[in-house]
Amino acid sequence: MRYVTYERQGGKAVGIVDSLNGLVIEPTSLDWPGDMITLIKRGSVKQNPFGNSLPLEEVKLLAPILNPSKNIICIGRNYREHISEFAKVSQTEDKPPEVPVFFTKAPTAIIGHGQAITFNPKISEKIDWEGELAVIIGRQGRDISEEVALDYIFGYTCLNDVTARDLQKSHNQWFKGKSFDTFAPLGPWIVTADEIGDPQNLRLVLRVNGVTKQEGHTKDMIFTIRQIIASLSSGFTLEPGDIIATGTPSGVGFARFPPEFLKNGDVVEVEIEKIGVLRNGVISLS
Ligand code: MG
Repeated sequence: MRYVTYERQGGKAVGIVDSLNGLVIEPTSLDWPGDMITLIKRGSVKQNPFGNSLPLEEVKLLAPILNPSKNIICIGRNYREHISEFAKVSQTEDKPPEVPVFFTKAPTAIIGHGQAITFNPKISEKIDWEGELAVIIGRQGRDISEEVALDYIFGYTCLNDVTARDLQKSHNQWFKGKSFDTFAPLGPWIVTADEIGDPQNLRLVLRVNGVTKQEGHTKDMIFTIRQIIASLSSGFTLEPGDIIATGTPSGVGFARFPPEFLKNGDVVEVEIEKIGVLRNGVISLS
């Protein structure tokens, strides 16, 4: 099943995407939830319920999850070639980490498919992309073992871990350079775990203005999603709707020669197999 959050009469609603017919179905049952986290807590429906349908292209999508219970949890340095390209330009160690590198992004940075990534050039002009597979947690858990870790996942979506590279470096901690408003495009929808099957078998591509910049595969993650959930949940409660970004493959802008950064008018797309395309324009605020 594919679930979207979309704008309806100035508010938001949750619907089911009927990809075959290009429709968003809003079930008419009285107890249909008004937000994604409530839906996740109740569990996915088994079949398309009866409801009103709208053409997908006429619906203004919002990020599938707008208010997670905590910051977006991100994994840094989780693809071997990305570690090497990062090491080359930033004098960091060209060696995989021994434990997952966790950091977070503020939830106020979240935007949906079709919304603009904005940046203020007076603050930073080194705005870079990072296409990533995002895991959406389905139920509360702590001390989750690797064996059962995938049972805690509701579904998956695309995330762009947009980063101001100069501020990522100057502030030492990555939080500031990764948490500007609009720096966490998420979507276009959540695809439930049963439709994805093995999450370590997905091709990921990022394009800028139609040109492929990143081409990765989730089988190349250093820490698998099972390992990430086991490590993260040790002594730490995960809750329905929590978002985990699983790291980016090689091909980011600042590691290119010459370096490339996002500019006004660019269009960035993150495409992940079995999920779809998350597309966002870029607007410079001055
Ligand atoms: Mg990242």
